[in-house]
Amino acid sequence: MRILIAGAGPAGSLTGILLARGGHDVVLVDRAEFPRDKACGDVIGPLALAVLDRVGVELGANRHRIGSMWLGFEGREMLMPARPGLGHRGFGLTIRRRDFDDILYRQALSEGALSRAGVVSGVERRGDRLVARIGDQSDEFDVVVGADGANSSVARSMNMTDPGRILLGFALRRHIRGSTKADRVDLLLGNGPTATPGYGWVFDQGDDQLNLGIGIGVGSDRSRAKGARELLDRYQQDLVDRDIVNLDGAYQEMGGWLKMGLVGTRAAGDGVYLVGDAAGLVNPFQGEGIAAALVSAWLCASVIDRFGAEGAHAYRSAIHEHFGGFLSTGYLAQSIALGHPKVADLAMRSLVGAGSRSERIASAWGIFWNDLTQYSGPQTGSFGAWLALTVGKRLAGATRARASWDD
Ligand SMILES: Cc1cc2nc3c(=O)[nH]c(=O)nc-3n(C[C@H](O)[C@H](O)[C@H](O)COP(=O)(O)OP(=O)(O)OC[C@H]3O[C@@H](n4cnc5c(N)ncnc54)[C@H](O)[C@@H]3O)c2cc1C
Repeated sequence: MRILIAGAGPAGSLTGILLARGGHDVVLVDRAEFPRDKACGDVIGPLALAVLDRVGVELGANRHRIGSMWLGFEGREMLMPARPGLGHRGFGLTIRRRDFDDILYRQALSEGALSRAGVVSGVERRGDRLVARIGDQSDEFDVVVGADGANSSVARSMNMTDPGRILLGFALRRHIRGSTKADRVDLLLGNGPTATPGYGWVFDQGDDQLNLGIGIGVGSDRSRAKGARELLDRYQQDLVDRDIVNLDGAYQEMGGWLKMGLVGTRAAGDGVYLVGDAAGLVNPFQGEGIAAALVSAWLCASVIDRFGAEGAHAYRSAIHEHFGGFLSTGYLAQSIALGHPKVADLAMRSLVGAGSRSERIASAWGIFWNDLTQYSGPQTGSFGAWLALTVGKRLAGATRARASWDD
């Protein structure tokens, strides 16, 4: 079976590792030359690390750990503790995407995937073959995996996304020399002319550098991302004024789209599978996407190994089972925050206020919004996280905040 994987980010490279290891004929195509950077908070979360451990990807020693962090909103803040759960450790790592993605990409090649440089501009079905346009050439495959990120050409050319329904975010990060007292995320709701809901973050990278950024929800309207830089400038200045960070010198800035909540996306059909951001799997609460990219790669490679080009139904079911409940809850929360900012404001004020007084509530929120509920095991806050997910799923079902257009 000849398989094209379009895109060699974490989702594409891990799919490539697993399929090549399974003896399949894999061609891994990326438009960029590796190593290449990617806009990111550079946090590889605990679930992502657990998947990489299981696959046997070595990230190298002495990486900087990231664990408990503050969540702030309008002058209140709560500390979300990070604890080990079922199969995952109680911390993530900060690794620059230029390095992290390169490690995965090189491993895919060493497992036997063939690398090819070029832009995949579209895929079409011709009889029992899929024909992909790569650069100025056409090539035939049995199966195509779209791992080409939030603006996936594979998904677009195969009509697998509905642009009017997708849930987008835009995020902008700065690598900047400096120090912070503690890693933190701040919720930013409706303050000023810029598009919100959103959040800001500052993460220590462990080498006198900070990753400082903001993300904002824009629904399906990309023009709402216009004010992102202004929002980031204000957030950065606020951190300086509050003495939370010390900054020193120039920064390097990079932005990118987040495709969230699985909504408006059909994850597979007709021999084509979407993984990672192409499938719209980014966490709508806090913008994490690497863990979902890796889990979807794992699911996708297992389905292709078993069903070849005929596994669309199995893959969609697996995606909905793994991500549907949480992502539809996140979709509902984003829709409320976009349409009714006052309701979101009250909810966040109450949550962070309660979490500042109760470790149990802060921990429950930390587990829930990092989508670790099903892996948390018995620990402080796990019942609260389960309750939040159960209620969220019910509400999402009742309000028809569907996770996908075809379930
Ligand atoms: C500013 C920002 C901060 C973020 N912070 C975090 C974080 O801290 N932690 C976290 O887990 N997630 C974070 N995310 C989300 C995370 O970056 C993504 O979810 C993750 O990169 C998804 O991996 P992927 O492999 O699906 O896609 P990508 O990493 O986007 O990889 C797609 C690859 O496809 C290639 N490509 C694209 N189009 C084509 C084409 N037509 N032909 C050939 N190749 C193509 C690209 O060059 C790229 O290499 C952040 C995102 C942003 C924008």
